[in-house]
Amino acid sequence: MTQDRDFDVIVVGGGGAGMSAAIMASDAGASVLLIEADAKLGGSTALSGGVYYAAGTSVQRAKGIEGDSAELMFEYYMTLNQYRVEASLARTICDNATPGLDWLMSMGVEFHPEDLYSSGVESFERGHHAHGNGAAIAAALDREVSKRPIDVALKTRVQRLLIDDATGRVVGVHAGGQDVRAGAVVLTTGGFGANPHFLYKYYPEAAAQGDWAWYIGNKNCVGDGLLLGQQAGADIVGHNRGLLLTTPNFRKELEVFVPGWLVYVNREGRRFIKETAEYAVMSGVVKAQTGGSCFAIFDDVAKREARPIEKYADAFASGVLPLNWVADELEAQVKTGKVIKADTLDELAIRCGIRPGSLNATVETYNADTDAGLDSMFFKDPADMKPIRTGPFYAVEVRPAIVCLTSTGVRINASAQALDELDTPIRGLFAGGETTGGVLGERYIGGGNSIANAIVFGRIAGRSAAAEARRNA
Ligand SMILES: Cc1cc2nc3c(=O)[nH]c(=O)nc-3n(C[C@H](O)[C@H](O)[C@H](O)COP(=O)(O)OP(=O)(O)OC[C@H]3O[C@@H](n4cnc5c(N)ncnc54)[C@H](O)[C@@H]3O)c2cc1C
Repeated sequence: MTQDRDFDVIVVGGGGAGMSAAIMASDAGASVLLIEADAKLGGSTALSGGVYYAAGTSVQRAKGIEGDSAELMFEYYMTLNQYRVEASLARTICDNATPGLDWLMSMGVEFHPEDLYSSGVESFERGHHAHGNGAAIAAALDREVSKRPIDVALKTRVQRLLIDDATGRVVGVHAGGQDVRAGAVVLTTGGFGANPHFLYKYYPEAAAQGDWAWYIGNKNCVGDGLLLGQQAGADIVGHNRGLLLTTPNFRKELEVFVPGWLVYVNREGRRFIKETAEYAVMSGVVKAQTGGSCFAIFDDVAKREARPIEKYADAFASGVLPLNWVADELEAQVKTGKVIKADTLDELAIRCGIRPGSLNATVETYNADTDAGLDSMFFKDPADMKPIRTGPFYAVEVRPAIVCLTSTGVRINASAQALDELDTPIRGLFAGGETTGGVLGERYIGGGNSIANAIVFGRIAGRSAAAEARRNA
């Protein structure tokens, strides 16, 4: 360490990206200060489902999945995003997701082959679900941080960067009433879902949901990384990107799976998606419908028989998933008006603003498909289907409104250097994870895209920051 600095590297924000950055910088020989606004490390990473997206992994092979690779993941990433995503960043996440997964496993995080699933619309199963969810990932990283000579300052919010007037170099941070100087600073403050003003500014699609919109992540994720980056001249990219989850808005609870007996129709009265499609694609398709929402339709028999999905019994029992689609709750929501009830399908259509007549035709086809044991429109598992025949009939509006994560943020290059509007790296400044923009595209490629981003670019940012601090020592 040189005279003009207190630490080689300061990492701002101690979630998945920040802890990864701190560990990598420390392992590269840097002295590190990790500053976290919360009373403990973990951020939204600790609250997450712990799904990690990667291709060509040992976990896939253990399940007998051969032939997947970073190349195929890259092709999928780019195609799904119709090439409207920074290719070098997409390539970097695809190439480094598997080493990142191995790294987490070397710390004791367990990814069981039987928990692997297709978390997007890929043909290979790439959604690696950490045993113990995101809390297990955060706990493993936290343990590794504490094994190293990394200084950790909790309950400390970084308010601004220190920037050398003459050179424009970022030389430290101001936090807890004092200046702390460093050879390089890494921004890993997560997203801005907890900041309504930033939702209006950077994620208007979420803000447009009004009081339906609510954020499920860490309360400190208010977009400080974007402000700090901008203070040093960083470009902000990825406008209006993030991940919204659909909800019937019965209450403010996370919902990622719905039962297959629901029939989603748009205002034209047509089905438009397999109702059990992964959340990674669901909200984008619902958003594209007239009015930006849809209606879940079912009949009185389905309502009376509504039970929690067996496959997720543990998650319901532990309160991780809400009991929205069960008989008692639906009856209670009839009284609040959130479940709309009508004696006939025509009346239901009128009450919902659905084109009269077409709902009948849709239901007729659906019922015939149910009888035949084949969803001829969207290929849903016939075992999940129930006819819509017995009145009264019900409809529930479903909107993409739960803010899971935001992906507008500081522009970086493949070395996680923060870039200004002219693509020039800002000296001394790095960023990784949800605080960056450009890594995640308009399409969330699948469950695990964001944690892979946090771990991959957190690791790169830590390594790059340590190298820069060394160069300037
Ligand atoms: C309920 C839930 C489930 C999810 N499930 C998944 C999933 O299964 N798979 C997936 O890929 N993604 C998932 N996500 C998204 C994913 O968890 C996050 O996008 C990712 O973990 C972000 O990691 P991060 O390190 O960038 O930010 P975070 O983990 O949020 O860490 C940011 C940290 O920075 C701190 N901070 C903020 N400002 C300051 C400041 N000024 N000074 C100091 N500290 C500051 C915060 O307190 C926080 O601890 C989920 C999100 C939620 C909320």
